Amino acid sequence: MYDIIIAGGGPAGLTSAIYGARGGLNVLVLERSFAGGQMAISHTVENYPGFENDVPGALLANNMHVQATRLGAEFKNELVKEFDIDGDVKKLHTRNEVYEARTVVLAMGATPRKLGIAGEEDFIGAGVSYCATCDGAFFKGANVAVIGGGNTALEDALFLARYCEKVYLVHRRDTFRAQHALVKLAEENDKIEFVLDSTGTVIQGKFTVDTLVVENLKTKEKQDLKVTGVFVAVGQQPTTELVRGKVDLDDKGYIIAGEDCKTNVPGVFCAGDIRTKEVRQIVTAAADGAVASYGCELYLL
Ligand code: NAP
Repeated sequence: MYDIIIAGGGPAGLTSAIYGARGGLNVLVLERSFAGGQMAISHTVENYPGFENDVPGALLANNMHVQATRLGAEFKNELVKEFDIDGDVKKLHTRNEVYEARTVVLAMGATPRKLGIAGEEDFIGAGVSYCATCDGAFFKGANVAVIGGGNTALEDALFLARYCEKVYLVHRRDTFRAQHALVKLAEENDKIEFVLDSTGTVIQGKFTVDTLVVENLKTKEKQDLKVTGVFVAVGQQPTTELVRGKVDLDDKGYIIAGEDCKTNVPGVFCAGDIRTKEVRQIVTAAADGAVASYGCELYLL
């Protein structure tokens, strides 16, 4: 029986593990893929405190993982398939095991949202991507499009401009949700062309993508962007399907919890992008991780 099981090994889960283990608790982290979550695939992180220069997300992830391990947290590379979390003993089921704990931290984060346009599903892996950092290198010298106007879209466009001949940034409005500094950098980049008030309507190609049809939402005019890559960056969806009906969620599917990271279920906490919150950043996810473990510690007294 563990004191805390943390589901998810992104910055929230890793920080929760660091705080829990350092507090002398018996901590298990269950992570389905690799430590670091979305942070690990961020090419550079500029706004995490303590680094004079940009730091690769993968390095930050590795450092947090090593730190948590050194402090005594246990990690298992397993996907949780069922959360049985309403009793005093919480049970997390994976394919071959049932892990038990007195407290649980839900830190499964969020995954990229799909655009839902024609051709999108057909060309996943054949020109459609949700991860510029992962796939950008396949598009050296190519023309590509990024769809979205948040921090991810702007960061993706700037990253792709390093490799690609041209990057169209397609955004449905003419103002951006992304931080001003990123928008300014993109405006100053000769390789990036803004296609504003517009959205992708169809992705076409024979075997791989060759065209993104975009429509101007004001004039209704359509144009064909000749691109071989379409990077979709239209936000995130919380990974909460398996806890739906078990903890309270808001209408967008995020777990309802305040700054204390407590869910409505005793002994169940949540941390990071999975929680209702205003600012979703690595630093706020890490802060949640610390608060959630502190909550577990108090619950266990
Ligand atoms: P986001 O901030 O929610 O932005 C999503 C963007 O996609 C918005 O511009 C939105 O347009 C657009 N969009 C949504 N649905 C669309 C649709 N159906 N068709 C066309 N466009 C659509 O998502 P994100 O950029 O993935 O960021 C998620 C969170 O992570 C944010 O809190 C962000 O600040 C954070 N983040 C931070 C950093 C960093 O600080 N370095 C980096 C990446 C992400 P509208 O603006 O018109 O709604």
